[in-house]
Amino acid sequence: ALQAGIVGLPNVGKSTLFNAVSNSAKAQASNYRFCTIEPNVGLVDVPDERLDKLAELVQPNRVVPTTIEFVDIAGLVKGASKGEGLGNKFLANIREVDAIVHVIRCFEDENILREEGEINPVGDKEIIDTELQLKDLESVEKKLARIEKMARTGGDPKAKRELEVLLECKDHLEKGLNIRALDIAKEDRGAIADLFLLTEKPVLYVANVDEASILTGNKYSEILKAAVQSEGAEVIVMNNSIEAQISEMEDPDDKELFLSEYSLTEPGLNRLIRSTYKLLQLITYFTAGVQEVRAWTIQNGWKAPQAASVIHTDFEKGFIKAEVISYDDYVKFGSETAARENGRFRIEGKEYVVSDGDVMHFRFNV
Ligand code: GDP
Repeated sequence: ALQAGIVGLPNVGKSTLFNAVSNSAKAQASNYRFCTIEPNVGLVDVPDERLDKLAELVQPNRVVPTTIEFVDIAGLVKGASKGEGLGNKFLANIREVDAIVHVIRCFEDENILREEGEINPVGDKEIIDTELQLKDLESVEKKLARIEKMARTGGDPKAKRELEVLLECKDHLEKGLNIRALDIAKEDRGAIADLFLLTEKPVLYVANVDEASILTGNKYSEILKAAVQSEGAEVIVMNNSIEAQISEMEDPDDKELFLSEYSLTEPGLNRLIRSTYKLLQLITYFTAGVQEVRAWTIQNGWKAPQAASVIHTDFEKGFIKAEVISYDDYVKFGSETAARENGRFRIEGKEYVVSDGDVMHFRFNV
């Protein structure tokens, strides 16, 4: 499964957020796999109203949501790229994840230590960014040293082009910029693909605000939003302490009441999970039968046979065709039969690119 890593400076609320994630993971009946996962990894259901709606229409024996994983990456401090505070170990953990959830302290609390003094969301973000950039610079320079030799000795045009791309990355990083902000042509991406650069990974920010600012945000979250606007990155305003409390509540009525006291319609965690899912460029298709109504995760752009492979590898090998009803049509007509009668039931072949929300049934040879 794809993973998002939770990063940030010490005392910003990372563990609190991760506790909320793993509490809700434990509470979810569908998470039979939870116990097999490492202590710093939480597998959570992706909340999806469409799945609930389909379940309501079909009334199946069971409903299975799709999931994503969050990894708690504690211990990043200033100087991590130079090995400070086990820095290299944590940076290596970031290399393994597919996206980054960067938690930023936007709350005041004199009891909670802040080594850097005054609350400073942009400064905090830059400290972490710098560590990741320095680490990336190290990776780029290592590869540059190798490629430079090849480019000099042989007339290898590929090495020459790679050299140019790497130099461009180096220059960019030295300016204090992230690789994700560098426009690299598709055909040039090979030059850095093997480096798994940290600042290339997609990112979203959690502005951990005080209780009074959950709905409105505060001056710190506004400053952060303004600072990351040019990156096009999303900022999710939430209060991690409250999220951890919500996640500990077992009784749904208590939970409802607690949320309404803060005028929340749902936990902030749900927003975070959905946004992270999008950040990973994941989309969902559904299967809907009386046994099971289920959500399946695929990458945006996948064709039908590849999409079928997430159910079973045999489905891809023996793929014949897919029967498809769009989610909107399914709900509009209320059942597969009714959608079929109204001509909204499609037969698609190998080249069909699956759309978000498609309700699918695969025909295959075994
Ligand atoms: P980490 O070092 O980033 O993992 O931070 P923790 O999650 O351990 O949080 C550090 C301290 O800040 C703990 O005492 C938390 O209870 C507290 N904390 C976390 N989130 C909030 C918040 O939104 N508001 C306040 N006032 N305290 C918080």
